[in-house]
Amino acid sequence: MKHEKIVILGTGGTIAGTAASASDPMGYVAAQVGIAQLVAAIPALAEGSCELVTEQVAQIDSKDMSFAVWAQLAGRVNHFLVQPDVQGIVITHGTDTLEETAYFLQALLNPAKPVVLTCAMRPATAPAPDGPQNMLDAVTVARHAGAQGVVAVCAGAIHSALDVQKVHTHRLDAFSSGDAGPLGYVGAGRLRMMRNWPAVAAHHAQSAIKNIADLKGGDSWPRVDIVMSYAGASAAMVNALVTDGVEGLVVAATGNGTLHHALEAALLQAQAAGVKVVRATRCLQGRVVPKPGDTLPDANGLSPVKARVALMLRLLG
Ligand code: ASP
Repeated sequence: MKHEKIVILGTGGTIAGTAASASDPMGYVAAQVGIAQLVAAIPALAEGSCELVTEQVAQIDSKDMSFAVWAQLAGRVNHFLVQPDVQGIVITHGTDTLEETAYFLQALLNPAKPVVLTCAMRPATAPAPDGPQNMLDAVTVARHAGAQGVVAVCAGAIHSALDVQKVHTHRLDAFSSGDAGPLGYVGAGRLRMMRNWPAVAAHHAQSAIKNIADLKGGDSWPRVDIVMSYAGASAAMVNALVTDGVEGLVVAATGNGTLHHALEAALLQAQAAGVKVVRATRCLQGRVVPKPGDTLPDANGLSPVKARVALMLRLLG
């Protein structure tokens, strides 16, 4: 009799992708194989003492991730997390926006149990797919005593939702935690931890979940966009977005949060008009180090895409 449950939620991605020809590594379609079928194709998953429960939450290429899917996913994750016999949750996800979903779930739910996103760079039909091993590793992490928070497991590394970023277009080891480094590594059914699991704050997520569930689709989510500072940047993008009713703007600044003066002037004007503006950096490593007198708040170490999620959640209240 298996008493503990691991829930595996499917959302699509390359891990569920199929190719017409095994010799064409890029010619595949993501999100084709159902989660039950993916799990059934990995007999080693059933060997543990945990019961595996699968549920298809979505079946999409994660480049098309939507607020509606996020709302649905957050609701299902929360539904399973509160069940005492659920030890942890694994989510299969496309690699393209995995870091955004991971951060969204961490910021919203702050789970005391592990929520492990996993993925693949090769489709399920590839001659040597990476999905099955990533899935086995993700379940190992989800079952690990003491694991908590939202993490991503790919190519044997365990990344925190706060730091993880896709950094490579096709390599199997496509994710990095920048200069923070991975939380740890998983291999041969064992974990080797280098850092602590993401901290669990005391706040309760139920009201946030209710707000998200109430929103359902995308129309009523706060409109937050990202602009970038670069050589020759101007006020045009910011002004167009403000005219279009944007509520929040994240700027991917150069270096340590520096901005082209024309863009900065437009952002300050937008801020004065009530738009929430946050300054992240377009650098892959490091974070904007704030200094006294900064007129635009920094992103608290978040990448531009995660700073956008944080700002949306803040605007949602
Ligand atoms: N476009 C795919 C997705 O994000 C890429 C992948 O999963 O690797 O769903």
